[in-house]
Amino acid sequence: MLLCNQSPLPEGMAVKLTLEHVPAEVAEDLDFDLIGEGVAALVCGLPEPNEIDLVLSGDFTASVRARMTAAEGRDEYSAERHIGLVPAKTFPGDGPKATVVMNAAIVWRKARDAIKDINVPRCFGHEGRHVALHQRGEHTHDARRRRNLMTAERVFVGRAGIMIEEYRVERALCAAGMPAGRLYIDSLSGSIPRIHAAMADAARARWNGGDIAPCIQAVLGAFDQLTTLLGYVAAHVAAEATPLDGVSATPEWERLVGSRWTRVQELLSAVPHADESWSADALVRGVDELAAELREWLEDIGFSLDDRDDGNCWFDFTRHDW
Ligand SMILES: [Zn+2]
Repeated sequence: MLLCNQSPLPEGMAVKLTLEHVPAEVAEDLDFDLIGEGVAALVCGLPEPNEIDLVLSGDFTASVRARMTAAEGRDEYSAERHIGLVPAKTFPGDGPKATVVMNAAIVWRKARDAIKDINVPRCFGHEGRHVALHQRGEHTHDARRRRNLMTAERVFVGRAGIMIEEYRVERALCAAGMPAGRLYIDSLSGSIPRIHAAMADAARARWNGGDIAPCIQAVLGAFDQLTTLLGYVAAHVAAEATPLDGVSATPEWERLVGSRWTRVQELLSAVPHADESWSADALVRGVDELAAELREWLEDIGFSLDDRDDGNCWFDFTRHDW
C-alpha cells in the first residue's frame, strides 16, 4: 500500500506502508487521517524521505522480533518495560533505508480510548528523528560498531549511545514545537520504584544462591531502562525548564540517580538536538565521555562490570545494602 501525495505529505513523496498481523476488521477501522498526520511528522526534515518502510503491526512484538537476530536479543525481546509499553521501533537498514515498526493499536480507532495519552504525530516524529540521524550518518550505533571494543566497554558505549540519541530526538521534538509536557516526568514516580525493585530482587536472588546470568541480565536491563528514561527526562528538563518535583526527594531516586543527575545533565546539555548535525569526532567523544560516567554511575548504584586482561568480562557487587 502506498500513501502517495496524501495531504499533508509534500508532493512527490511516498512512504511505503505495510500492515502486518492486522486482521481485516482492524484494518478497516484504522484512522487514516491520523496515520497521514503521523507520516507527515515522520518524514519532516528527513534527508531521504522516500527510503522509509512503515510497518503498522497488530502484533508488535512478533514484528520486531522478525527483524532482529538472535545476537541482538530477538528471543528475549519484549515491548513491556519498567518504564511503560514501547509503541514503536526503528531499524536502520543499508544506506539511507530504514524500517519503522509501529504498534497499530495507536491508530486503531477502537483501541485509542485505552491509550489516549499517546500523542500519535509526536510518536511518528520521534521515530522520524531516529531515521534522520541514521540517514545523516549520526546514528550512535556507529560509535560502537566501527571500533574494536571489549565487552564491558561495549555495554557502556552502547548504552551511552542510546541515551544520547534519545536525548537528541526528544530535544528536537521540543524545539519543533512538540513538547512532551509532563509525560515522562510524571512517569518517574512509578518507573523509579519499579527499576529499583528489579535491581534489588536480582541482587537478593543471586545472594540466595541464584544463577549469575539472570542477575546480570536483570540488572543491566533495568539500568538500560533507567538511562533511557532519564535521557528523555533530561531533554524535557533542559528544553522546558520543568522541575522534577517530589520524585527527586524519594529514597529510590537517591539510590538510583542521586548526585549523578547534575553531571549527566551537564554532559547531555553539550549535545546538539537531532535536527542539528553533529560531527563524527564530537559524537564519538561525547559517547565516550558519557560511557565513562555510566560505568561509575552503575558502581554507585551497586554493580560493576569490568573487562579483564584475560579477555573475560567480570560482573560484581559494589554494595550489599539492598
Ligand atoms: Zn527513541
